[in-house]
Amino acid sequence: MNEFDYVIVGAGAAGCVLANRLSASGKHRVAVLEAGGPDRHIWIKVPAGFNKTVYNPKLNWGYETAPSPHIDNRRIVFPRGKVLGGSGSINGHLYVRGQAADYDTWAQLGCRGWSWTDVLPYFKRAERRIGGDDAVRGRDGPLYIEDQREPHPLSDAYIAANEALGLKRTPDYNCGDQEGTFLYQQMMRGGRRWSPADAYLRPALSRPNLRVIPWAQAERIVFEGKRATGVQYRGRDGKSQTMRAGRDVILCGGSINTPHLLQISGVGDPEWLKAFGGAVVHALPGVGRNFRDHYAARVSALVKGAGSLNERSHGVRLVGEVIRYAFTRKGLLAASPSHAGGYLRTRPGLETPDMQLYFAPASYAAGRYGTSALDTKPGMTLGASQLRPESVGHVKALSADPMEKPEIQPNYLADQIDRDALLAALKYLRKLLVTRPLADYVVCENLPGPDVKTDDELMAHARATGSTTYHPVGTCKLGIDPMAVVEPQSMKVIGLHGLRVADASVMPTMVSGNTYAATNMIAEKASDLILA
Ligand SMILES: Cc1cc2nc3c(=O)[nH]c(=O)nc-3n(C[C@H](O)[C@H](O)[C@H](O)COP(=O)(O)OP(=O)(O)OC[C@H]3O[C@@H](n4cnc5c(N)ncnc54)[C@H](O)[C@@H]3O)c2cc1C
Repeated sequence: MNEFDYVIVGAGAAGCVLANRLSASGKHRVAVLEAGGPDRHIWIKVPAGFNKTVYNPKLNWGYETAPSPHIDNRRIVFPRGKVLGGSGSINGHLYVRGQAADYDTWAQLGCRGWSWTDVLPYFKRAERRIGGDDAVRGRDGPLYIEDQREPHPLSDAYIAANEALGLKRTPDYNCGDQEGTFLYQQMMRGGRRWSPADAYLRPALSRPNLRVIPWAQAERIVFEGKRATGVQYRGRDGKSQTMRAGRDVILCGGSINTPHLLQISGVGDPEWLKAFGGAVVHALPGVGRNFRDHYAARVSALVKGAGSLNERSHGVRLVGEVIRYAFTRKGLLAASPSHAGGYLRTRPGLETPDMQLYFAPASYAAGRYGTSALDTKPGMTLGASQLRPESVGHVKALSADPMEKPEIQPNYLADQIDRDALLAALKYLRKLLVTRPLADYVVCENLPGPDVKTDDELMAHARATGSTTYHPVGTCKLGIDPMAVVEPQSMKVIGLHGLRVADASVMPTMVSGNTYAATNMIAEKASDLILA
């Protein structure tokens, strides 16, 4: 059978939710096309496996950005999951909803039905969480949210140093008001990654009305006039075939691939489409625009007497850690790339925090936080990224060939507000290094190091060593303005029939924090809107 009611493109954070919710009643036939393969890789399940999966070409689309002018024209490696669970199978496990004000802003921009009060029930429906306030936290959803099983003493010292600088400890940064310092909550169950495939897809796989097809890359949306009637995809055998959609094609390919697929299918800015020789099915200039991402910069220090993760990552101690994890699901292998953090305001007069902080009781070779081999010397890393960057980039197809990668131009630090905020944050991080009790462990600042003194030097460091925190959003935004792509009350692509989008690309503005939880919420709400 090659006809279904709903054809979902992408089994990532959003696609897994929709596959489950749309097939739950048994009334609708649902197909999911996923370009990647099954999620059996051992390092997907083990939290510390982040370092092993984040660049693994078998699990990844292998993107790199275009040279970004305001960060010394550097290209940034840009991982996106290509596997069941999508980026949710290779991400850093941190569970962060953002601020109530983020969603109230969406509503004010014209996205009626997306205020904090409107979306809170969907956050709650998704979650299975012990702790926090019943009024805001979910208890029996499919997504397990755990506290850290064994907080590291350096993380405790980091939190205490934040408190000494006036940032109070917050009992739950996911209650709408984030401000404070804390240990990150994680998407884990019993010390193992709990991905969208675990939470939503696997429990639904036995349903006769749901078919999930791995190794199936959507090449083009098939249109009859202004109606999407199906998807042309390339299967594992390399042959192209068409899957028909009786009701809707639902795009869940993420913030890079969803606008790319629309563009190569003839939906986008006509000038951009013509530039690569594409036909114009429907002019929609916002497709691929409004790209936003979090750009992080770091400082690191060599430490003593702290049992940093560097010391536990080789030789006999590593063997001990492996055995410990096998029996207790604790220790080095149960660790996410970030352990503790904070939300703070970098200048007076701001309504809510504008900066997110990250902390790891480890340092990394080449200073690339969380994404490469651990350094041999004991260390710790403190990072920061501005929560709602003003700098805007784009995703643009350069060829009609679906196998050709699109241009990703992030435009990091293009806006002065973003530069000012990051500079203030880096100064704050350096202040933490000399604040007790964290200072008691510090041997010396390692990165950027004592030679970097002036603001200009600190910004040069931010430009030269900063990187993505993997949170692209906004490239098919919900809204009612001329650059809007998706209709907020139905998730339909504006001006077309039988075509909807529900993934991170629909966020009209950046949420204040890591983007998984908001994407999960969007898909939960989208499932109700679609079924209605
Ligand atoms: C390395 C990394 C670390 C991160 N860490 C965190 C974190 O700690 N906390 C957090 O909240 N967020 C984190 N994120 C972000 C978070 O994972 C994403 O915001 C979220 O997964 C986005 O969901 P999505 O459904 O939009 O896209 P994805 O989860 O990326 O899913 C898209 C899916 O669609 C498939 N697909 C794409 N194009 C096609 C096509 N043409 N045909 C068929 N299938 C297709 C992809 O293979 C993929 O499976 C991280 C992301 C990455 C990459």
